[in-house]
Amino acid sequence: MGKIKSVNPFSEQLLKEFESYSEDKLNEVLTLSEKAFKIWKEYSFEKRSSLFNKMARKLRDKKGFLSTLMTSEMGKPIKEAEAEVEKCAWVCEYYAENAEFFLKDDLIISDASESYVEYDPLGCILAIMPWNFPFWQVFRFAAPTIMAGNTGILKHASNVPQCSLAIQDLFEETGFPKGVFQSVLISGEETDRLIAHKTIKAVTLTGSEQAGVKVAASAGANLKKTVLELGGSDPFIVLKDANIDDAASWAVKARMVNNGQSCIAAKRFIVVDSVKNQFVQSMAKAVSALKLGDPLSPEIQVGPLARKDLAESLFDQVEKSISLGASVAVGGTPPVGAMFFPTILENVKPGMPAFDEELFGPVAAIISVPNEQEAIDLANQSKYGLGASIWTRDFEKGKVLARQIESGSVFINGMVKSDPRLPFGGVKLSGYGRELAAFGIREFVNIKSVWVK
Ligand code: NDP
Repeated sequence: MGKIKSVNPFSEQLLKEFESYSEDKLNEVLTLSEKAFKIWKEYSFEKRSSLFNKMARKLRDKKGFLSTLMTSEMGKPIKEAEAEVEKCAWVCEYYAENAEFFLKDDLIISDASESYVEYDPLGCILAIMPWNFPFWQVFRFAAPTIMAGNTGILKHASNVPQCSLAIQDLFEETGFPKGVFQSVLISGEETDRLIAHKTIKAVTLTGSEQAGVKVAASAGANLKKTVLELGGSDPFIVLKDANIDDAASWAVKARMVNNGQSCIAAKRFIVVDSVKNQFVQSMAKAVSALKLGDPLSPEIQVGPLARKDLAESLFDQVEKSISLGASVAVGGTPPVGAMFFPTILENVKPGMPAFDEELFGPVAAIISVPNEQEAIDLANQSKYGLGASIWTRDFEKGKVLARQIESGSVFINGMVKSDPRLPFGGVKLSGYGRELAAFGIREFVNIKSVWVK
């Protein structure tokens, strides 16, 4: 049992320290979750919806406090933290309105006098969540899963314990029955015993590929279902007929969102040769103009990475790519503490970390290609497959190419983003299962067939 520390990554100041939960305390949490499930699964959709609508109001009322907490603990620009709280309110309202419809019995014609499928809750679902969107990732899991009648236990990333506890408080203040949603403060390594516990019926993880492998193995050893939302190295494909300045302006947003720490951030910019110089110049101008500094100041666009070690390992990936032949168009200087300077690398090729690995920070990798087909081939030459974007004035061609791309989503002339109305998730090493929309709420239910003679 160790300490869980909350550290401001910009000032490097220790904000708070917590004891990791003891075995006894974890057992109390599990017991309470089981008790809460018995009560909560009997709540009508109407009652559940009314609580989630109340939660949305509470999130908006407390937006200032919650966004400041988030920014202080993990460094995202405060304006983005405020937008994140708003998005959490949206997903609560979305499932408050649609959950009953998504989970209504499906009548099916068979040899029975009546047959149908019903969607029953499973029980307590464990969510292992990352620090990059410390509220959104949790609400994206909690709103559908709990609206379906399950209870939830959150094991949040160890660098955001205050966000974790604040979310539990929100559930309690809103009036959800005690135990419907609980947070536990434990390290990643200590999570195995929770996964193995009989109360936990399934597990969802958002995080790195390495964590995904461990959690899936541990859940598999206990025959429990997992949903995994892992890393990405999303391609942003610019064709010669694209509006280049518009694409470059979106490229900067798509790469720099959340200080570059987003699974669906565009990471590999695959640009057709004939427009590459214009695209890079336009992107370089915008990247050089970004305002860096204390993320609590509203004018700041790029703050620190969430931890110093993350900045150091990102710089290793940049240096290694340069030693293998990449050139620096902007930035490329070593981090100062957790502050990483926005960087554009050119001449990136397969075999370099900037192509093969996930670069989780403000580093854009430019890959030039002679034609469209090569662009698609390189887009697919990745172990990941989360979201891709294609920039072209020819929508029909964009749709044809979209079919050839191996990823969970493709955006044509738009930046990849999550939206409660659209399913979200990946293929290949980006994970499996889907979140959001009707698909997300059906991940953690028992799809039960009922047959009447
Ligand atoms: P991790 O994947 O280690 O952390 C994500 C979550 O998984 C945290 O709650 C973490 O807990 C937990 N975890 C880690 N190992 C285990 C384990 N063996 N069993 C159970 N839970 C575990 O990410 P990092 O913070 O180390 O970031 C490293 C890299 O991961 C990033 O640079 C990025 O490439 C990727 N990443 C991707 C994210 C995404 O949105 N897809 C989000 C975050 C990271 P704890 O913090 O206690 O270790």
